Amino acid sequence: MHAMTETTITAEELQASEYFHGHRCPAMPQGLRAGHVAMDWLEVPRARGGGELVAIIETGSHHFSGCFADGVMFATGCTFGKGNLIQNPLGKFALTLYVPKSHQAVRLIPHYERMSQCLTMDFFKLRAQGVPPFDLDPKVTEPLIQDVLTKPWTEIFALQEFEDYPFDPVPDVFEAVQCSLCHELTVKSYAQQFHHQWYCKPCLDGIIHARLAPTV
Ligand SMILES: [Zn+2]
Ligand SMILES: [Zn+2]
Repeated sequence: MHAMTETTITAEELQASEYFHGHRCPAMPQGLRAGHVAMDWLEVPRARGGGELVAIIETGSHHFSGCFADGVMFATGCTFGKGNLIQNPLGKFALTLYVPKSHQAVRLIPHYERMSQCLTMDFFKLRAQGVPPFDLDPKVTEPLIQDVLTKPWTEIFALQEFEDYPFDPVPDVFEAVQCSLCHELTVKSYAQQFHHQWYCKPCLDGIIHARLAPTV
């Protein structure tokens, strides 16, 4: 393992990320921490545009600790809008951070014992009973937040390193067409031609399905 100086998560960053996220909870800061450790390990700065870094998260939707993704977005600058955040929904909690220029990547995997222990804690029991995180007693939430912010990162995550991570970047498209049916502007890579006319996907689907409808 190479020597790494971990960037400190400042009170300002934590506060700003909590504003973005909407509440205080332990899973979002775990994403912040994962994002920083990954950038520190790879020695890369936060993403300004879409091409510098790609974050791949493995959380799905509508399950515990999904807040992790917001911490990753805030720390790395890999966001939904810039298209450099990829959700590979596996129901797992790893973060892979990929650097297109060097093809290097790291994957941070929270330790099994840590994540499975969490589920037996009051925080998750109450969450499972339907208590929203912003209504929880700070006595329940705060120790978990402090723990995830202060514990040595190696006690939280295992790290896999990739010298040549398999990833095909998708170039940004700056062309658009008008759909012949609904007349809405559609990005060219999402439009399709049919009988020399451009169509958006729902309109083309409609035409194709109408044609395939059985005649009675
Ligand atoms: Zn949260
Ligand atoms: Zn259309």
